[in-house]
Amino acid sequence: MATQEKADVAIVGAGASGSVFAAVLARAGKKVVVLETGPEWQLSDLISSDFWGRRIKSAGAPFLLEGNNPFGYSYQSGWGVGGAALHYFANLPRLLPNDFKMRSEHNRALDWPISYQDVAPYYDKVARDIGVSGNARAEEIWRPAGEPYPMPPMKTFRNGEVWLKGFEAVGIRMVPAAVGMNSTGYKGRPACIYDGWCHIGCPTGALSNPLVTYLAEARKAGAEVRARSTVTRVLTSRQGTRVSGLEYYDAKKERQVQEASVVVLAAWSAQNPRLLLNSATDRHPRGLANTSGLVGKYMMCHFSSGTWALFDEDVQNHLGTTGAQFMSYDRYGKTAHPGVFGSSFIVAGSALKTSDLGGFANARPDLFGPELHAFMKRAARGLTRIGAFGEELPNLDNRIELAADKDEFGMPLGRIHHSFDQDAVGLWNANFEEGLRIAKATGAKEAWSARGNMPTIHLMGGTIMGTDAGNSVVNSYGQSHDLPNLYLAGPGIFPTAGASNPTYTIFALSLRGAEQLAANWRAVEL
Ligand SMILES: Cc1cc2nc3c(=O)[nH]c(=O)nc-3n(C[C@H](O)[C@H](O)[C@H](O)COP(=O)(O)OP(=O)(O)OC[C@H]3O[C@@H](n4cnc5c(N)ncnc54)[C@H](O)[C@@H]3O)c2cc1C
Ligand code: SF4
Repeated sequence: MATQEKADVAIVGAGASGSVFAAVLARAGKKVVVLETGPEWQLSDLISSDFWGRRIKSAGAPFLLEGNNPFGYSYQSGWGVGGAALHYFANLPRLLPNDFKMRSEHNRALDWPISYQDVAPYYDKVARDIGVSGNARAEEIWRPAGEPYPMPPMKTFRNGEVWLKGFEAVGIRMVPAAVGMNSTGYKGRPACIYDGWCHIGCPTGALSNPLVTYLAEARKAGAEVRARSTVTRVLTSRQGTRVSGLEYYDAKKERQVQEASVVVLAAWSAQNPRLLLNSATDRHPRGLANTSGLVGKYMMCHFSSGTWALFDEDVQNHLGTTGAQFMSYDRYGKTAHPGVFGSSFIVAGSALKTSDLGGFANARPDLFGPELHAFMKRAARGLTRIGAFGEELPNLDNRIELAADKDEFGMPLGRIHHSFDQDAVGLWNANFEEGLRIAKATGAKEAWSARGNMPTIHLMGGTIMGTDAGNSVVNSYGQSHDLPNLYLAGPGIFPTAGASNPTYTIFALSLRGAEQLAANWRAVEL
């Protein structure tokens, strides 16, 4: 075992949230070390092929999956420098004010300890930092006014435009989607070429993955990113009042210790609770930061109701981005669909590939042989899809625990229990019904719901924020209530999920937390 030179800040995970903390703290002059379990990646490694793209999907120790709706974590999570955000679709909608006050306004779920207004300035800052394309004014029919996005909306294509008639017919307003992609050149990065390979990593730098945004800045400011470094425990001082560093295994599988004044866990919602639970000591027998008993609890996700439509015309479904062209918050009210509860966020227009995630080869799983062949010939030109994300409410039963089985480093595997409740199932069905009404109103030749197992998208919760150690794991900055020099970052700190894709809020909350840490460094470090 070796002990590395002490860092000011040791960050676990080089993905969306870790890279923001690394950039802010390195710029503030701190010695920052980022430990990342997966490999190093460069833009030039990213090859536009679904087969190659499997290499950047999650690897490493598996999670054991239980419950009625096991969580499909493997294609959701990241593997290597950049994290899942290396191959995210860069849809960047924000949460809305109603997400922060669900308990107060509806006596359901939980309130956040902060409001939309606390996060709003950070949405604007992130947009400037990473480059967001969209039309803020158009979105402001649903939210308080903020700054314009730094780039105009992306181009649109027939595969998105053909839906607009259907949305209008059912009274849903669509506006240009806010995406972390360049509609024009931005900060030395090129404009998008609309070849639709974002889902396995954009090789040009037009998409705002961490390699070309916060992580690049962090490195420029002196942060060290150590790939192939798997963290297994957070270490604490003898008195148990502070964290003192991290135990990890390097590329040669040798045990190392990285001492640090402050530790930031940014290893995604599934891994952060696993690390906290595995770091139990005599003084913290239930795991670190766990006075509330809520570490690993209130895991949440989104579920999507997709609708396919097949047109006679060539809708150019090979063109565009994997992100959306249009979006709507018209069903975002918690009671927008009669008789069911929770927000929905609607998107339309995305490039289709043949196989793998979202590929049209999976659009009619009931077809085989000649019928499938005939369908695919038509689908190659005429098929397009819309989706409505639904909100899952926080339930204590949806949780992560340690299992008896261990990984190659002797660390217990995580076990994720996940089942949807009746609210989620009701919302999922309501969105399918509306999706079909929209599709039929477009005049498409055929329309059908993309029903299969109820999907589990964007894992959130597990280390939720709140007002104190009685009701939560961290405060609104991600700082542990129990151990002041331990921060948690990422979607794990959301107490409710909303229906918007989470990463804009992850960036915004991480920026807010990292700036608070930098500003209060002396008090936190002591
Ligand atoms: C295909 C796909 C499409 C997506 N599209 C969108 C979208 O359009 N919009 C949106 O908002 N979100 C999207 N997401 C989700 C988005 O990528 C995540 O919300 C975001 O990346 C989560 O940020 P994070 O920092 O918590 O985790 P990540 O970005 O995944 O980073 C966590 C990092 O921690 C590392 N790590 C884990 N365990 C350890 C350990 N023990 N030691 C060291 N390192 C460790 C991982 O390897 C990983 O690199 C998408 C995700 C995927 C996979
Ligand atoms: S469509 Fe644009 S953002 Fe997506 S991979 Fe191609 S160039 Fe990158």
